[in-house]
Amino acid sequence: MDWADELAARVSGPQVVSDSKTPSGTVHVGSLRGPVIVDTIARALRANGIETTYLYGVDDMDPMDAQALLTPDAIDREMGRPLAHVPDPAGDCHESYARHFAGLFIDTFEKLGIRPDRYFWMSDIYPTGQLDPFIRTALDRAAVVREIYARVANVHHAEGWLPLSIVCPTCGKVGTTLATDWDGETVAFVCGPEYVTWAKGCATTGRVSPFGGAAKLPWNLEWAAQWSLFGVTIEPCGKDLSTAGGSRDRSDAIAREVYEREPPLNVAYEFLNIGGRKMSTSKGRGAAAHTIAEVVPPEQLRFLFLRPRPNQAIEFDPEGTDAIPRLFDESDKFAAATAGREVRGELPAGFEATFRYSLVDPAADVAAEAAAFRPAFSHLALLLQVPGVDVTERVVAEKGSELTPRETEILAERTAAARAWLDTYAPERAIVAVQPKLPAAVNDLDAAQRQLLDRLSSVAAGSGDQWQAAIFTMAQQLELPAGRAFDAIYRAFLGRTNGPRAGWLLASLDPDFVATRLRDAAMEGATA
Ligand SMILES: [Zn+2]
Ligand SMILES: [Zn+2]
Repeated sequence: MDWADELAARVSGPQVVSDSKTPSGTVHVGSLRGPVIVDTIARALRANGIETTYLYGVDDMDPMDAQALLTPDAIDREMGRPLAHVPDPAGDCHESYARHFAGLFIDTFEKLGIRPDRYFWMSDIYPTGQLDPFIRTALDRAAVVREIYARVANVHHAEGWLPLSIVCPTCGKVGTTLATDWDGETVAFVCGPEYVTWAKGCATTGRVSPFGGAAKLPWNLEWAAQWSLFGVTIEPCGKDLSTAGGSRDRSDAIAREVYEREPPLNVAYEFLNIGGRKMSTSKGRGAAAHTIAEVVPPEQLRFLFLRPRPNQAIEFDPEGTDAIPRLFDESDKFAAATAGREVRGELPAGFEATFRYSLVDPAADVAAEAAAFRPAFSHLALLLQVPGVDVTERVVAEKGSELTPRETEILAERTAAARAWLDTYAPERAIVAVQPKLPAAVNDLDAAQRQLLDRLSSVAAGSGDQWQAAIFTMAQQLELPAGRAFDAIYRAFLGRTNGPRAGWLLASLDPDFVATRLRDAAMEGATA
């Protein structure tokens, strides 16, 4: 059984699953792991007949603290203001900085089949007064909150410190204010010029009522208040928040001891690492969620996150590597195994569930999807580069019958993905230019390589697999290492020493051209 199904079997009664994000800048692909995991939990619960509500929150009252993302003239004015009150940096396409970046991220959800029942924006919630009771309780029980911070996180606040950030009525900043002295109606506050290093307060002091949007709770209390307000029962979170004494521990303790409610079940998940580095906000080309989603189709993107269990880190380095073709191959293997076909290599327990939850449509016919013909991604990427090839015709020949409408869709999606991959992440060796004339690189062929090419010139192989088998067999007969055999073929056709799978390369070309080129290369090498 899959981890999500295990979880669904463990709970009873109606469930509210929730997830939230601070829209502090461009969201990188690793941040999709949370939404994919939460969506999968919601699907597993529903499949078990459990009434489920799926929420997604945007924590857009959090202060702007990323100077790098602001223009120089905006830094003094905007640092420390709620993200919901900072203007859209891209112009006026959205009503705020928060709506811009959260919007880009949320747009990828629909394509991935992630459909929360409700989105909530904290900037919409505070003004309604729904959080006022939680603000009042936090202020009444400030001593308990301070004691929790000291005990759980070893963070010590001064005696009069209150767990509340006033939105400064003068400068609009929320990250610069310190609240003290709650009298049951109002709090005293100061907007401190030096209260934080990353933003400058305006020195306003006074007393205000903290209700109806005039203030926000610090994140740990806001999180716990969300759980109570929405009745959240399951909320996974990243391992950065799940460490001992970290954000989750603090919010769990606040939920129990301040708001007197059991916190939701946590499913802590690991990061997605790009080339061994944790993917952090705003670094590296092609790391943005919406950029990767342009190359990797939704099914494979879901699969990327669901293939390992949540507690396993994911290593994904698409830049100049075969990571994306390998992702397709692995997901095709899961599909084939689900369809009952024999596959090479190990499969984890629960592979059928992994395949099912990778499908974009939760109501898809799993058996039909698994059985659909899926052309190998690398092969497609090669065919697309060979002039004069009718790709559809080749794929139909490979399948052995006409494509179904669904298979035609899959082919179109993969063709687009392969083109995008060749334009962006593909390594040099995947880029193929078949040389119209015999390349000079054949001059360096040795005798055994020449013999191999000569023998191959009389082979009448059809498919890439047949070619591949013929190359291996003949190389063995000639006691030529496989690497030297491929080297000879790449030299003869591409004028270089590396390339895509040699069998596929030969199968993609006109048979007469292949025979002539093999013979010419064998002879040219011989006379040189
Ligand atoms: Zn915008
Ligand atoms: Zn101020």
